[in-house]
Amino acid sequence: MWMNKSITEIHSALVKKKVTPIELVEECISLSEKDKCNCFEACCFDQARKQAKEIKEIKEEEILKGIPFFAKDNFSTLGVETTASSNILNGYIPIFDASVITKLKNAGMILMGKTTMDELAMGGNGTTSHKGVSTNPYDHKRIIGGSSCGSAGVVSTGIVPFALGSDTGDSVRKPASHAGLVGFKPTWGRVSRYGLLSFATSLDTVSYFTRNVLDASYILSYISGYDNKDMSSSTRKKEKYQDYVLKKKTFKKIGYFKEVYNSITNKQIKEAFDNLLSSLKGKGYIVSEYDYPKELLYALYPTYMIISCAEANSNNACLDGIKYGPGVENATSWVEYMTKARTKGFSELIKRRFVIGSFSLLSQNQEEMFTRAQKARRLIVNELNKFFDEHDYLLLPAAYSLPPKISELDTKWSSKPDFLDNILTLGNFGGNPSITLPLTFINNMPLGVNVTGRIFEDGYVFSLASEIEKITKLSNLVKE
Ligand code: GLN
Repeated sequence: MWMNKSITEIHSALVKKKVTPIELVEECISLSEKDKCNCFEACCFDQARKQAKEIKEIKEEEILKGIPFFAKDNFSTLGVETTASSNILNGYIPIFDASVITKLKNAGMILMGKTTMDELAMGGNGTTSHKGVSTNPYDHKRIIGGSSCGSAGVVSTGIVPFALGSDTGDSVRKPASHAGLVGFKPTWGRVSRYGLLSFATSLDTVSYFTRNVLDASYILSYISGYDNKDMSSSTRKKEKYQDYVLKKKTFKKIGYFKEVYNSITNKQIKEAFDNLLSSLKGKGYIVSEYDYPKELLYALYPTYMIISCAEANSNNACLDGIKYGPGVENATSWVEYMTKARTKGFSELIKRRFVIGSFSLLSQNQEEMFTRAQKARRLIVNELNKFFDEHDYLLLPAAYSLPPKISELDTKWSSKPDFLDNILTLGNFGGNPSITLPLTFINNMPLGVNVTGRIFEDGYVFSLASEIEKITKLSNLVKE
């Protein structure tokens, strides 16, 4: 068994010829066939076999070469159906690869296929894919979380050591917590989004899962950098992010939010978080409490909803169901065709969000809703930047309860402070690098901690995360 090992372990076995790429691919295929979590959309196993057979030699420095991976179904993949788990995109076969897919393929990684997600990346439970609910391998009665549910599933069940996801609010960092994984969201602009189906452009970030921090740092070294196909990609020089982990280049000042800390009601989570803080102090880190304005914490969710739904409404206006989609009969005009296709093609959650988005963009509402949300976002980010004037890292529990049971999910408004469930969106508002990694186990379920840093300090985020990994001794977790 190799696929339950880390990238660096598999790589060293490949270099020493203890295993070959085609053997890895075959192992990955047979594991995929036993999937119990509902992880998969279209797969491209034949293409993967062909690529694997063509690899003759792997050099020491070719870390990713010959290693299989999966991508969330919102990345365009040449010749492989891409639906974003929505009926509106049924039958869509892209004629190009997303830039991040091209980069990984150029590094010699082998694309195995696409993973299930919450429809069009909206949602956090992993329950709204057109292929049904994805479950948590630690307890199939519970959610694994979304929207990158299938990618979390394939990494946590030992099918691949790495899978691509996307993070607009917390869609990689939340499921990482529920699945015992490392989930990393780079600085906005650090990785090209060309070919990633847009949800909310100003928040969307190519993100991913691995089973340890070093693997995550290697991946960023390969996929970051300017791309002339994405005008929002940064021209900053890329770095060797693994050096921050290997050479332990780290900052010292860690802060956490008082209001958030005081709102943690689960005793075991509080205890695990406290233990981590004292271990970090013991290692010479300076840890302090910070008074981030309460009213801005409460503003996180409404601000996120207005901005993300407005952008989603506009980004998805192109999905007309004409070239691909659910198929429509008896339409007498293209407007009627489109209306019927969109009614049939989108689930309730998507329709609700489009209503919120278009309502907030109506000219008579724009000032009151969309512009106001933009102003709230500015205040939220200004205050976050003030925090980062005094601290190098923001530390937060990545989740405040165990993943909910599927049978207990409801869509009612919650009565508990909803900033706890949406706190990770802070990193999307500011575009900050942010990583979730395992913190503890409660009733045999994993639970994560999150580290967020200043923009473009992705490397430093890896270095603190790797220190935490040494404290918790929870890495390379697999639940088969
Ligand atoms: N939970 C958020 C939402 O429902 C996250 C989505 C995401 O990051 N793609 O929109």
